[in-house]
Amino acid sequence: MIRIAIDGPSGAGKSSLAKGLAAKLGINYLDTGALYRTVGYAAREAGIGPDDRGAVVKMLENTEIRAAFEDGVQMMYLNGRPLGDAIRENDISAYASAVSAIPEVRAFLLETQRDIARRESVVMDGRDIGSCVLKDAICKIYLTASVECRALRRMAELQEKGVDTSLEIIKADISDRDYRDMHRDVSPLVQAEDAVYLDSSDMGIEEVTDKIISIFNEKAGK
Ligand code: C5P
Repeated sequence: MIRIAIDGPSGAGKSSLAKGLAAKLGINYLDTGALYRTVGYAAREAGIGPDDRGAVVKMLENTEIRAAFEDGVQMMYLNGRPLGDAIRENDISAYASAVSAIPEVRAFLLETQRDIARRESVVMDGRDIGSCVLKDAICKIYLTASVECRALRRMAELQEKGVDTSLEIIKADISDRDYRDMHRDVSPLVQAEDAVYLDSSDMGIEEVTDKIISIFNEKAGK
């Protein structure tokens, strides 16, 4: 069973990288941010404020979240209903970030994540995969990039989707999320002791992928 953990702040390029890496290794890619986004989506749909811990925790009693791989692509289901790209909205990023600081939400999603890794080989990306969810992962990477560089990448993505916004707004949004992810009490974003630190600011995706494959081969003794 192969387990690769890629953690780091928003916009560091974790998902494109993890997706490409999983495809090269012929295993699945689990985007754990999508699980938190699904909880955030459920809260918004129920009209619950994302910081209203009591209401979010109560909501979890009647919430079933499932990740399924369909032709290698991860689909999120909320109470049996597929959500598609709705969880990618900007508004849902803020909801996901807020609900992810609630300990009960993290506990709720922990088993879902571990269960998937028990059943199959995976590349998982998130914030606490190497430090908490998959402490025994064979290869752990902490991937980051400068705020400037992450904001420029995010801006290009949004422009491609026709969303008009400013670099300053994106930078502020990224800095807010970084702060919240790094300072929450439970499972904050940290570099696991045995994770390899990679700054992708001046690296292309191919270069980062090759680097991780060589780290993986080394760790796996290949
Ligand atoms: O990775 P993505 O930006 O889609 O994640 C959305 C939010 O979910 C993040 O801002 C972060 O707060 C939270 N998250 C988390 N732990 C993870 C993955 C995501 O707290 N393992």
